Amino acid sequence: MGLVEGRIAVVTGAGSGIGRAAAEALAREGAAVVATDIDDDGLKATAASIQGAGGKVLTLHQDVTDEAAWDQVFEAAEAEFGTPSVLVNNAGIAIAGAITDYSLADWQKQMAVNVDSVFLGTRAAMRRMQEKGGSIVNISSVAGLRGAAGASAYCTSKGAVRLFTKAAAVECGQMGWPIRVNSVHPGIIDTPIWQKSITRMTETMNADQAAALTAHSGANQLDVNAIAAGNTPMVRAGRPEEVADLIVFLASDRASYISGQEHVIDGAMTAR
Ligand code: NAP
Repeated sequence: MGLVEGRIAVVTGAGSGIGRAAAEALAREGAAVVATDIDDDGLKATAASIQGAGGKVLTLHQDVTDEAAWDQVFEAAEAEFGTPSVLVNNAGIAIAGAITDYSLADWQKQMAVNVDSVFLGTRAAMRRMQEKGGSIVNISSVAGLRGAAGASAYCTSKGAVRLFTKAAAVECGQMGWPIRVNSVHPGIIDTPIWQKSITRMTETMNADQAAALTAHSGANQLDVNAIAAGNTPMVRAGRPEEVADLIVFLASDRASYISGQEHVIDGAMTAR
């Protein structure tokens, strides 16, 4: 019997990194998974992996900032498998940059993808899980717990996810709805988000600035383990599968009395 046997789980950003690993792990533990992303090729690879292992999966193209798309995702999930009782709000981006150089457009995009999405997803889930219950897992970051230079918008977005999660958990309890809401705070995890962040940063720079940044040896081929070695007592980056195991636990009834909490998974990075 899997940890989430017979459950229906929606996972956003499931075409890459932590989202893909979470979708695979939930399917392995018995859930029917609705995997969504804007990256259709990534979704295909996730679906192939889940189906190859004998799991159940439905893939849907979803931009998590699109309000109307949330109803469509839950309706499609309902039609294919039944009402979801697990939502993993995982899709996210990191637009790095110094505050003095940061544009309002980038700030608003960072908030839309990382914060609006979590509100919209949680609202859609809370409207549907009130009677039968469920578990909502919001992916924040250690950047939601402390500041980092060049990451002010990202830190702000992840701090918002942390407190929105707590407010949602308290509200569910007060309403008498059996819905648990938790946040997960990964440290440095080896996924493509690091390279994408550098690429996005250079897109907003003029040619000279971009050339200066990418001229450094290795700057376009980030070695996440090297970054982690300098920042993490466990001297390595985390693997998406390690974060996925925590997500599955929080999704499952093994976590039946855990709600409104922040769960850090960072190789002891924030312990010092
Ligand atoms: P990732 O490999 O880049 O995966 C994120 C996925 O979300 C990508 O497929 C991305 O597509 C998708 N996405 C971006 N914008 C979207 C939108 N508007 N609608 C739907 N999907 C969208 O990154 P990851 O590292 O697995 O990150 C997953 C979550 O963990 C994020 O919330 C991130 O902030 C958080 N996190 C990551 C780390 C880390 O070190 N990796 C640490 C702490 C927290 P595109 O490729 O098109 O952008």
